[in-house]
Amino acid sequence: MSARVRAAGMATFNEGRICVEKHQVIIAGAGPAGATCAKALHDRGIDVLVIDRARFPRHKTCSGVLFGQTQVLLRSYFGSLPPASVYCTEPEIKASAIREWKPDAGYCRYVWEIDKDGQAFPDVYHNIRRADFDHWLIAQSGAQFREGCSLSAAHSGPDGLRITVRDGGRESRLACDYLIGADGGNSTVRKILDPRWAVDSPTVLAYQTYNYFQSAGDLPAGQWAVFFKPEIGDILCCVHQKDDTLVLCVGGFKRRSLKKSMQAFREFLTRAFGVIFSDQKRDEGCLIRMAPPNPGRDRVLLAGEAGGFIYLNGEGISAAMDSGHRAAMSVAEALQSGGSALNRYQAGSADIVAHMQTCMQQLHFLSAGPPA
Ligand SMILES: Cc1cc2nc3c(=O)[nH]c(=O)nc-3n(C[C@H](O)[C@H](O)[C@H](O)COP(=O)(O)OP(=O)(O)OC[C@H]3O[C@@H](n4cnc5c(N)ncnc54)[C@H](O)[C@@H]3O)c2cc1C
Repeated sequence: MSARVRAAGMATFNEGRICVEKHQVIIAGAGPAGATCAKALHDRGIDVLVIDRARFPRHKTCSGVLFGQTQVLLRSYFGSLPPASVYCTEPEIKASAIREWKPDAGYCRYVWEIDKDGQAFPDVYHNIRRADFDHWLIAQSGAQFREGCSLSAAHSGPDGLRITVRDGGRESRLACDYLIGADGGNSTVRKILDPRWAVDSPTVLAYQTYNYFQSAGDLPAGQWAVFFKPEIGDILCCVHQKDDTLVLCVGGFKRRSLKKSMQAFREFLTRAFGVIFSDQKRDEGCLIRMAPPNPGRDRVLLAGEAGGFIYLNGEGISAAMDSGHRAAMSVAEALQSGGSALNRYQAGSADIVAHMQTCMQQLHFLSAGPPA
């Protein structure tokens, strides 16, 4: 669909004594899903506002690796890979350098990404600073972007949707024809659509630390080492280098203390590989809800992790970008030709859901079964 829908700008109207700002599309969340969705809509002349509760550049718990599919999607949806300023000092991780370590057998190849729909992807991955990457991505979208603006409520109005936001401590009202929930793994938009989701879904918590180090010991340079140690975490734990730090990641279902897991992982790396850590630079954590994908309801579409679009092992930037793009195309077509954006989106994202299932069958992620 190349035709411009309307060279639209933001409109305002009064509702009672309140002045309401109206856009064709509002996107909550400016991560990879929101930024990719925004770019596709903006490129088609659609009036889109992106809001994010954070101010950019902001940290997001992530290993910060652009896998092969992500690189393909970046070229396709953004026309290029990110600039050099986004890459770490060791800019590449080869797929063959991601290795699982087994106490009895040593290192063996660990497959993180698999072919999709018969398409193989580049097998040299990019080691990036996630905060800078996301900042670049949303800037590339060209869309209006309001930082420090958090969506707190949404409901149907007489002629579209009404969104309540908190912006700099002040509550205000926005209106739109379509809302895209691209607000990540703890999505407020998804909770509004499905209040049971946050309560009922099995949830994995992930915790990362960035550690200065005196020696990486026997950890091979340039490798990303993966371990399955149920005594440390319920999912794989891993370590790789980012600039002058070693990034350690552990994860587990609720009730596990991930601070203790992290301490145990550090001690294991020192004992088994001779790693000598110095100070911790920073830490970060987030949750991943293991619920089936949900494309949304009526004129509210969910993209990226908010919609449950994440490939196993937390390879989520590609699924986020791809679902964000498909959501945008569905809305653009509905605005131009009528019909249901949601139905289009559901049909148009079926291959992402199918690939998620293939990943579930073929990749190894848990170190033990989920809790009863
Ligand atoms: C430990 C770990 C490591 C990972 N490593 C990788 C990796 O190396 N490569 C990879 O491809 N994927 C990785 N992932 C997955 C990847 O980080 C996510 O899948 C991806 O960020 C999802 O993108 P998104 O746009 O859906 O959401 P996010 O990137 O989470 O963006 C959501 C945005 O919404 C904003 N927001 C939240 N609530 C609101 C609100 N109420 N109003 C407005 N804004 C809001 C947030 O501030 C945020 O900016 C990893 C995940 C984890 C947990």
